[in-house]
Amino acid sequence: MILVTEALVLSTQTVAEKDVLLLMLSPRFGRLSAVAKGGKKSKRRFVNALEPFSHLRVHLRGNKIGLCPFLDQADLLNPFEGLRLSPLKFALASYFCELIEIFFRPGTGKEFFPDLLESLALLEETEKYWPLLKLHFELTLLARSGFLPHLSSCARCGRELSKAVSFSYTAGGVVCLICAEENDIRMSPESLAFLRHLTRLSAQNLNRLRPSAENLRQAQQTIEKFLLFVVDREINSLRILKEML
Ligand SMILES: [Zn+2]
Repeated sequence: MILVTEALVLSTQTVAEKDVLLLMLSPRFGRLSAVAKGGKKSKRRFVNALEPFSHLRVHLRGNKIGLCPFLDQADLLNPFEGLRLSPLKFALASYFCELIEIFFRPGTGKEFFPDLLESLALLEETEKYWPLLKLHFELTLLARSGFLPHLSSCARCGRELSKAVSFSYTAGGVVCLICAEENDIRMSPESLAFLRHLTRLSAQNLNRLRPSAENLRQAQQTIEKFLLFVVDREINSLRILKEML
């Protein structure tokens, strides 16, 4: 049986010297793997398709999608070549893809396909507002996987928030100053307002935002640390991205 679906390549790995194992995200099957037999050598059969970030229409052959099907054919819809030409774009796109691998188990995450596709397209267009794109991607991913930090009222007591707040990784969101504990991070009301605004915005509109450097820095640090707290492991591509800055 041949199954056809769109997919974005998250990562590739050579196996058994000549085959290529592809990890992908598809709008039909979510996260899935497939093996391109002889893919390492058969450049003609899979022209530029077996590269990270490639947007493909894949033809899969196998009994069950869970059992790592074979990649029979791959039509290249968009190579996203621009993402491989700039080191910063490459590092950030790799970070997006690694996050998908971390957050979604095989067979899940199909609802996130449009978000990943859109983020890669916007990043390829320009790296001008990449910190906003990164922050927005992290927030969307957290939201879609049920980890969006609580930003509307105190995450510990539910009280309406007065001006000053703290962010608590253990409570999963902002807390009032009465509930704040020693390890919670102080956050300005402006940064909180900026974060709330960002959760309601589509990625397409990010280029219109002009946050102050301080608000952006605070929001970025808070959400990145929260994400690392949620996944509880090191993220290789994030380390590489940070080394570049
Ligand atoms: Zn409280």
